[in-house]
This record gives sequence, structure tokens and C-alpha cells, in this order.
Amino acid sequence: MTSLVSLKRRPRSSTPEGPAPRVLVLGNPNAGKTTLFNRLAGANLRVGNYPGVTVEHAEAHVDVDGARLLLVDLPGTYSLCGRSSEERIAIHAVLGLEGHPPPDVILLVGDVTQIQRSLYLALQASELGVPTVVALNMADEAEKLGIDVDVVGLSEALGLSVVACSARTGAGLDDLRRRLVWAGSHPDAARGTFRTELPVEYGAAIDAAEQVVAGWLPGTHGGRARGLWALMSVEGGEDELTPASVVHEVIHVREGLSEAGLDLDLEVANSRYAWLDETLSHLLTSAPGRGRDLSDRLDGVLIHPVWGFAVFVVLMTLLFQGLFSWSDPAIGVIETVFGMMSAGVTSTLPEGLLADFIVGGLIAGVGGVVVFLPQILLLFLLIGLMEDSGYMARVAYLMDRIMRSVGLHGRAFVPMLSGFACAVPAVLATRTMERRRDRYLTMMVVPLTTCSARLPVYTVLIAALFPAAVGGVPAQGLVLSGMYFLSVFTALAAAAVLGRTVLKGRREPLLLELPPYRLPRAATVLRMMWDRSKVFLTEAGTVILVCTIVLWGLLTFPRVDVTALPGDIAPETAQIEGSYAAVLGKGLEPAIAPLGFDWTIGIGLIGSFAAREVFVATMGVVYGVGGDVDADSDTLRERIRNQKRADGAPIYTPLVGLSLMIFFAFAAQCMSTLAAVKRETKSWRWPVFLTVYMTVLAYVASLIVYQGGRALGFG
Ligand code: GDP
Ligand code: MG
Repeated sequence: MTSLVSLKRRPRSSTPEGPAPRVLVLGNPNAGKTTLFNRLAGANLRVGNYPGVTVEHAEAHVDVDGARLLLVDLPGTYSLCGRSSEERIAIHAVLGLEGHPPPDVILLVGDVTQIQRSLYLALQASELGVPTVVALNMADEAEKLGIDVDVVGLSEALGLSVVACSARTGAGLDDLRRRLVWAGSHPDAARGTFRTELPVEYGAAIDAAEQVVAGWLPGTHGGRARGLWALMSVEGGEDELTPASVVHEVIHVREGLSEAGLDLDLEVANSRYAWLDETLSHLLTSAPGRGRDLSDRLDGVLIHPVWGFAVFVVLMTLLFQGLFSWSDPAIGVIETVFGMMSAGVTSTLPEGLLADFIVGGLIAGVGGVVVFLPQILLLFLLIGLMEDSGYMARVAYLMDRIMRSVGLHGRAFVPMLSGFACAVPAVLATRTMERRRDRYLTMMVVPLTTCSARLPVYTVLIAALFPAAVGGVPAQGLVLSGMYFLSVFTALAAAAVLGRTVLKGRREPLLLELPPYRLPRAATVLRMMWDRSKVFLTEAGTVILVCTIVLWGLLTFPRVDVTALPGDIAPETAQIEGSYAAVLGKGLEPAIAPLGFDWTIGIGLIGSFAAREVFVATMGVVYGVGGDVDADSDTLRERIRNQKRADGAPIYTPLVGLSLMIFFAFAAQCMSTLAAVKRETKSWRWPVFLTVYMTVLAYVASLIVYQGGRALGFG
């Protein structure tokens, strides 16, 4: 093996202007790909999107002794036949499909403490004929656990360079860099020798599949493996981008196999695992029992049916408690800063449309986005810690029973939890689920969880309309937690109904590996936080900003001649009553009157269908407090309490407030979420369905609450 490391440079990698070999970082989830990538790339990181999908990925040029490589980080996958959309990205990149250029080298990152599973993927990759280098990562941990792998023996068995390394300590990375350069410049010597052995009766089918895909899958090596891959992976279906003729013929060949009573998937898996068992039996020694003890003992408590749940409930309580109390100071600072900016503009610019636009449109819009960041960052920090430490896998295991009783997948827990911050990143987080049905069902119920945009609406209404305490019981707090419970209950109930009707599906057992517990790493957690917050800022943020500006326009035009008003009407009120927004609000009034809402609330609702939190700012404008109000504004509360209808009756009663909150709890008032669902499902059907079912639910629930309350003599 050492002779392979002789660094004979080829013109291709040594001329800086020639294209650098493209190295794909492939491996199981949590094998340490990203950590290794960052280590190898140093500061050269460049972040972009994969072709066709907005999943962020990182690329970097790495220079080694004058040669240059282009490193590409991929999402994790357990096999090249995976079905989840993240796995698909990795698979397309390896095969050079969907606009991915064909790779020159694969850097297969394996977790040496899970070597069997890691090498299974290595066999698949190397069989496809792409030059491959295997990095057995987590060497530091292997040492602690007493796991020892004969690297030289393994590299001979695979016909590939194998390097033991640790992305954490940096051990073995220099060697790894050199071998990558070598593989880039000696592609023929860097292809593996493994071939999946199958009984002869499979031969004809694989040959046929190889012919079918030859024109579609690029590449001159590993043709048989490509045929095999197609037989095991190609599927018809609406989000499949394989040419229809290929799908048709491959399915035809596959049906021939099953008619002959042959099970290709099983045979292939058996053959590869048999090879691995046989090979590793000579090369792997492990001292059992060491180090694992702590993980096992922790699991004894944390996935215990009673203690596990107790710990989980305590942690969730702390999480939500922390979410609100720790983000409070930061929110206060943001509000103060934006308030100062508004005051600055008002005092420097002459009074008029421009100043009005900057304060009521721009500053209010940007402020309305930024104010959510503290909570969103904090929630994703806590979720990141849970994921990176390995605890989240235990939670999925614990929750699986409950989630499945309503038809959801155990992994739906993470998106549901993320939904309490913002549904947009939560919709993206459904990508970890393999089955389409599981993903879609989760997407259809996540928008019911109480996202942080509902909170300012609840806060303002509760503070304005409900007494702080009734007979020593904190009424306002109870109403707020009631809204949270209601949202959880409704989301689960909706899943149960939709999972039995619109999205019927078989129940499948949760196959979950419990990774060892690890101390979370700051870099990993911060990256996760940043990735998800960026989704919020770019997707939800732009929509909120645009909507605030549009709404400002609707409230500001047409201009009312305030100089010609009778003395007893305030100019702001006259402007609002004459605006386009008022026309819309009054047009809506007949529809919403049965819910207890008048036309001023109607204006708020129109804005809120773009983004919920716009409601608070709109009410600020409508009730003449100014656009830069926040949920804590005493003036706004005061105004809300004192608004009168034409007949002198108050517009807002506690019953109207409750009806309004119920409406906000259920209605699909969020363009960004709908856009995210549209993109993830690649169809209009699901966002339209989501809008319709949630809005009908909201209307009916509010109607029942308001009319029921009236019948009982309230409000
Ligand atoms: P990815 O999912 O393959 O991208 O994996 P990450 O790079 O996100 O790493 C998963 C976890 O393993 C993180 O907590 C890393 O800090 C940790 N990790 C990565 N490499 C090593 C290593 O060599 N040794 C140890 N002990 N931990 C590692
Ligand atoms: Mg990663």
C-alpha cells in the first residue's frame, strides 16, 4: 500500500487553471462527513445549493502539495438505493444525475465504530467504478472502545486506499489528503475490486438492465453495477425524474425476476453482508464491554418506558420555559432598537409619505422579521444539542408509540417540535423521513403547532381582554397554555384523521439505530442553528417584509384629504376609513360577523393571511397607535379594549378575543409555509389542500366558540 502514496503528479491536478478533480464526501448520517470536510477545507468553504433543490451544500478547494481538489459535502445516506429526498441528493451526485457533474473521486467517510454499515455503502460506491478512498473516521473513539481494524488488510480486500483517521483530533488527515490527490490522478488504480456475487439466474436480468440504463447513466466503468442499481432503485412516480422509457423497461425486467420467484434485494444484501462478515472476521478485533457501558446505562434510564418519559417531560418543560424566558431580553433589545430607528426617521425626515413609508413599511417589516430570531435561534440551539448528543434518537424511539397511534412516523417528532418556532424550517425537516406518505402527513399537521408568529397575537389579545387573575388563579397564563395544548391536541387529531383518509398508508416498524451518546460539538450545533435560521430569514423573512409593505400601501392609499375634515374626526381615522384596506375589510365583514369580528378585525385578517404577526402591526395602524407597536404596547391594549361599534357596544369582548385566537390557531395564515409545502411536494395540490382544510377548520371552530358562547350568555 505504501507504494501507492508516491506522489507522482499528473498535469491535471497540478495546473491551477485545469479543473480540479471533484471529490464527493459520501457516508452514513453522523459518520463525521461535515466535520471531516471542514477540517480538510479549512477556510476555503463555499456554500451553495444543489442543482434543482434548495438544500444547501458546501464545496471547497483544497490544496495539497501544489495539487488542487474540489471537495463537495453530501447529505448522509445508508445506501445508494435510499428513498428520502436527502438520500436522493447524495445518490444523484454519485451517479452524475440531475445536473450533478460526474464525480472523479469518492471520499467515503465511515464511522469505524459502526464499520459494517459504513462499509456496506463503500461496497456500493466502489462497485459503480468511481475511484474511491475510504476514511475510517472516529479512530479516537475506536481506540477508547478497544476496536482495532487491520487497515492494510482491509485496503487489500477492497482494492482501495483505506485510512484510519479522526476528524476530531486531526489524526491521519495528512495521509488522507495525499491519497485523495493520488486517486484523482490515478483513477484506474483507485477503482475498487469488489463485485456483488449473485447466483447465475440473475445474470440475464442484470445484463438487460445494464443495456437499458447505458444511455441514461453516464460513465464508462461499473456498467453491471449501474444495471443492478437501477433494478433496485428505479421507481415510477410523480417525483421521479427518470426517463419514462427507462422506468418502463426496468420495471419490466424486475417483474420478470419476481415472476420467476427471485428476490433481488434480499440476494444482493445477503451477498454483500456475507462478504463483509467473512472479510471483517479476519480484520476486526474488538474488546467488548469497554466504554459502551456508559451509553448502555444511560439508555437504561432514558428509553425506559416510565423513567424515560419522566425525563423527557421534564426536559420539554425546561425547554419551553427557557424558550420564553431566555429570549425575552433579546426581544426587548430588538424592539428598543427598531423603536429608536423609527423615532430617528420621524424626527429627521419631514412629515409625509416618505417618512411614513420608511417607518410603517420598511422598518416595521424588517423589525417584524428580526423580532422572531431570538426564539427561533434558541429553539434550534436546543434541538441541535439534543440531536448532536444522540438524545433525539432516543426521543424518536420513545415517541414512536404515541406518534404511530395517530399514524405519524417516530421521526415526525423533530419537525413537530421545530414547528413551535416556525413551520417553514419544520417543513424542510420532514426530509429525514423516507416514505412520501409519512412526510406529507407531517407537513399537513405541522402548521397547526403554535409557531412564534402566533404568540404576539395571543399576547396582545390575552393581555387586553382577560383579567390577570381570577380568584388567585393566573387566568392569562392559563389561557395561553390552553392555546398551546389545543394546538398539540389538534395536530395529533388531524394526523389521526388525515392518516386514515387522505393519506392512508401501511404502518411500518421504526428501524432506528441508537447512536452512542456524544458530547455535542459547538461547531456542529451552531452550523445546524444557522442553516435552519437562514431558511426562516430567507423564506419567511422576505414574505413578511413584502406583505408589511403591501399592507402599508393598502392602508395609505387612496389619500384622504384630511384638511377638509370636520373637527371631531381624527385625520388618521379618516385616512383608514377611506383606504383600500377598509374597502376590503368592509367587504369581508358579512362573512366574519358570525365569528364576532367587525371590519377593522377584517383588515387585520387580510394582512394576517400573508403572515400572522402582521396582525398586531395592522391593528396598531388601524387603531391609530402607529405601525411600530409591539405586543407589549399598553396603548394598543387600551385601544383594543375601548374600540366601539357604531351602536356603542365594545368590538372586543373576551369571547371575541377567544374566537379570534381560535381562528389564528387553526387558519393557514402563512404564505411562506404554503410556498415551502409547494416546493417540497412539487405540486399545488398539497398547499391548496392545507389552506382549505385549515381555514374551514378555523372558521367552523370560531363559529362554534362564538355562537356557543353567545348562546350560553357570554359576550
Ligand atoms: P455527518 O452527519 O456525517 O456530517 O456528521 P458530522 O460531521 O455532523 O458529525 C457527527 C458527530 O460526530 C458530531 O458530533 C461530530 O462532532 C462527531 N465527530 C465527527 N468526527 C469525529 C471523530 O473523528 N471523533 C469523534 N469522537 N467524534 C467525531
Ligand atoms: Mg453533514
